Amino acid sequence: MHDVIIIGAGAAGLSAALWCDELGLDTLVLEQGREVGGQLLRVYNPIENYLGVRARDGREMRDLFAEQVKDAEFDLWTEAEIESVDLKAKRIALRSGEELQAISIIIATGVRRRTLGIPGEMELMGRGVMESGKRDRDMFAGKDVCVVGGGDAAAENALLLAEVCPTVTLVHRGQKLRARTEFIERLRGEHCITVFKESVVRRIIGEQEVEGVEIMRGGAIKPFQMAVRGVLVRIGVEPNTELFREQIHLDERGYIVVTGEQETSASNVFAIGDVSNPLAPTISSATGAGATAAKVIAARLNER
Ligand SMILES: Cc1cc2nc3c(=O)[nH]c(=O)nc-3n(C[C@H](O)[C@H](O)[C@H](O)COP(=O)(O)OP(=O)(O)OC[C@H]3O[C@@H](n4cnc5c(N)ncnc54)[C@H](O)[C@@H]3O)c2cc1C
Repeated sequence: MHDVIIIGAGAAGLSAALWCDELGLDTLVLEQGREVGGQLLRVYNPIENYLGVRARDGREMRDLFAEQVKDAEFDLWTEAEIESVDLKAKRIALRSGEELQAISIIIATGVRRRTLGIPGEMELMGRGVMESGKRDRDMFAGKDVCVVGGGDAAAENALLLAEVCPTVTLVHRGQKLRARTEFIERLRGEHCITVFKESVVRRIIGEQEVEGVEIMRGGAIKPFQMAVRGVLVRIGVEPNTELFREQIHLDERGYIVVTGEQETSASNVFAIGDVSNPLAPTISSATGAGATAAKVIAARLNER
């Protein structure tokens, strides 16, 4: 029996673990990945808005976090695959067969990028389907590319790629781009960027590498094919809450609803970080929420 089991070792989970350890709680962290850090491992831009620390990219920030928690006494299991969770009983079954039990559970499972779910998207990942405009830009210099999405991330990446690519086609299914005004104005000023609104990419074409995309434009009867060598999909994120559905209150987009104490609708089950914060998903809010949950749990255990 652990005092606390934390699911997820991104910024939120690590912060909660550090606080739980400092407050003397017996803590186990379960992380499905091979290493800790979550989304930080995929941030290729400098991080300059986390007070007190500047990092070249997310990995450097993750390394600083990992260095700070390395002497703490909580247990950390990576590559931990959860089979099922009973939030009421606070029991977790792992695929490896272990059964775990805690007094409190903290869910810190974060979010994942949404995918289009179209042919070619997964098959050609890393072979023309990009992971990041910032990271992969130089590989696509001199090549025509397509960016899918209409928000800030899609617009920002289209602008980055336009610095080195002869043409960038931004394909957005809505009538209006959702990106901030500053990005939209810059998109208008970039002659090599074409925006297809009310359009969807239906297929990414290519055998060994991306050769093109099949696009269906609003109002058209037939799709058409366009030759591109790179595709970047930026259509938002979705919370990792499948394990907890039916057991706690989620909002209409699947994010966990929490109180000011970070508690979910199940007693002594807390949710922290992006998984419960669709409005302001940042490192600072994730680490702050970790501290709140740990303090509330420690206070309740002391009362007992
Ligand atoms: C490109 C990009 C740039 C960004 N730039 C900034 C910035 O400049 N400043 C800023 O403040 N924020 C920035 N962010 C946001 C910031 O990275 C996140 O808000 C923060 O990292 C969220 O941390 P988290 O711990 O809540 O979630 P995550 O980082 O998503 O971590 C969740 C962890 O839970 C694990 N997990 C999921 N499901 C399970 C399961 N079933 N079992 C076990 N483990 C599980 C995952 O493997 C992951 O390690 C950026 C994000 C991106 C993508």
